[in-house]
Amino acid sequence: MSNTLTKDHLRQLRNHIEIIPLIADVLEIIFKTHDGRFRFMCPLCRDFDTAVNTDTNLARCFRCKRNFNPIDMTMAVKRYSFVQAVRFLEPILHHVVAHAKNRNRICAKHDRRQA
Ligand SMILES: [Zn+2]
Repeated sequence: MSNTLTKDHLRQLRNHIEIIPLIADVLEIIFKTHDGRFRFMCPLCRDFDTAVNTDTNLARCFRCKRNFNPIDMTMAVKRYSFVQAVRFLEPILHHVVAHAKNRNRICAKHDRRQA
């Protein structure tokens, strides 16, 4: 088994790639914001009877009665296999992690100044 398909790595892909930017900016799925709720066009049934849960980082289609994590969503939209979806998401995860590390460094510097 390849190193990139470890449970931990897959968990990172599911949890650290935020579902809304993934839908809106990366996969460019049609979406609308209605009454402050983000709704996307379900890649399976093309309906907008959908919602996202930013706590669990899952998107849901009420018509299909399906939850999509970032990997599921990528597979459905791009018609990728599981492994292809993981490969597609990896550079995005690296970007997110690099960004977070940078932010932590800045915070650490700031704390030292205050001490
Ligand atoms: Zn659907």
